[in-house]
Amino acid sequence: MADNAQGNTGNSRETLGEKLYELAKRRGFFYPSNEIYGGLTGFYDYGSTGVLVKRNLENVWRRHFLRFNDNSFELEPSDIMPESVFIASGHIKNFIDPSVRCKKEGIYYRADHIISDATGQNAEGKSPDELSSMISEYKVRCPKCGGELGDVKVLNMMLQVKLGAEGDTIAYLRPETAQGVYVNFLRQFNIQRGKLPMGLAIVGKAFRNEISPRQLLIRQREFTQAELQMFIDPQDIDNAEKWDEVKDYALKVLFSGKEAAETLSCSEISLKAGIPKLYAYYLAKMQQFFADALGLPIDKLRLRELSKEERAFYNRIHFDVEVYLESLGEYKEIGGVHYRTDHDLTGHGSISKKSHEILFNGRKFVPHIIELSTGIDRVFYSLMELFYNPKSEKKEWEWMSFPPRLAPFQFAVYPLVSKDGIPEAARKAAEQLKSRYEIFYDQSGSIGRRYARADEIGIPFSITADYQTLEDNTVTVRNRDTGEQSRIAIADLPAEAEKLL
Ligand code: AMP
Repeated sequence: MADNAQGNTGNSRETLGEKLYELAKRRGFFYPSNEIYGGLTGFYDYGSTGVLVKRNLENVWRRHFLRFNDNSFELEPSDIMPESVFIASGHIKNFIDPSVRCKKEGIYYRADHIISDATGQNAEGKSPDELSSMISEYKVRCPKCGGELGDVKVLNMMLQVKLGAEGDTIAYLRPETAQGVYVNFLRQFNIQRGKLPMGLAIVGKAFRNEISPRQLLIRQREFTQAELQMFIDPQDIDNAEKWDEVKDYALKVLFSGKEAAETLSCSEISLKAGIPKLYAYYLAKMQQFFADALGLPIDKLRLRELSKEERAFYNRIHFDVEVYLESLGEYKEIGGVHYRTDHDLTGHGSISKKSHEILFNGRKFVPHIIELSTGIDRVFYSLMELFYNPKSEKKEWEWMSFPPRLAPFQFAVYPLVSKDGIPEAARKAAEQLKSRYEIFYDQSGSIGRRYARADEIGIPFSITADYQTLEDNTVTVRNRDTGEQSRIAIADLPAEAEKLL
């Protein structure tokens, strides 16, 4: 099945991946796209529950990344861009993946992935010749039918579109949001009154013709990225204005060539490892997003430095944020901090013939870029796994322990029974909260069944109107995590809600 979430090991892992996918489909987090037509490999749709969680996640991202610098704003450029953009960015030439074809069945695979799966060796970043040698040395065969594999070839991963009546204008669906910012740099620099550092973000779609999409939301052909491009004066790379805020903040880093991650303060990273202060500041902002703003456990996270061989040639420093996902049995990249220098703006300057040099602090230069990139769908999947709780003695059903700011609804509201004026009382309670929070009103089934439904999608608080409500205008409020209930006056709900959340 193309959409399985299994790693290549161990049964318990398969089980967790399968449980998550089953819950995702059943409760509307996400499911295969175009399902009635058999689905389309590498594409998923977010359902009615998933959209609410994804939107919350994107808004937490916005609140975090657009607020640490006053000069940071969001853009919404077009998804389709002309060919010259990708000549300038190098994607036409370099955005390629090694692929290999099974001679028997004709299926294509990502060569480095099937080599890693079969041998346990890291094959990422190797040349097609090196990968072909590894295939023959380790006798790697087609994972499906055991057939012989052909030579490793490279395929461009961009999706082309042909525009116009004759279809003769070649354009591409952007393979990363970043280029949508870069092509607008000159205009935005004026709009933002010529100041550096300047931040420009996009939360939007990216499209890649992945050879072998897999692991559900982790490797798709259409996905959402949230990326902040910081334009900086290269002379300021060791000068972070708000250094004092982060200098003692501990980062969990795995340096290239090291076996184990270390915990070091930003000061130590800058002094001992020679990481420039501004870059270390952005690393801290990145870890704070995942660990503090989203509440992912730090023991599952790490910032991994990529070696010179692993990182793109234009990246001077590159750390990925990785999360350990038990359902996949491995660490997965969910974000990265890329010091792209002046590569992109110089490229666009030369192909567009519009100089991207600016005058700043009495000097003329092309700004450098530090990109803070997050893969929203991968984070979404990580949230589902890391906040998932299986059935246990405490609860007879599976449940999600999303923090309230990520939960699809903050409150569920129920009438205990559907008669005697109780639904009207429940509606009155819901009215108190509706303008500020997402409310899930549920009238069907036993109250136990309704609690289970709310827990499965991670609603933190459930409010029930019962016969006592008719007498004293109070309702019960149940806490998802502890199961504890208290009685609160309907009129006090807005103030209580603020306290609870
Ligand atoms: P990249 O430009 O490859 O560094 O991608 C930026 C971010 O997008 C990564 O950190 C991933 O989290 C995410 N990403 C990359 N490729 C995919 C994909 N095929 N499906 C889902 N997310 C992806």
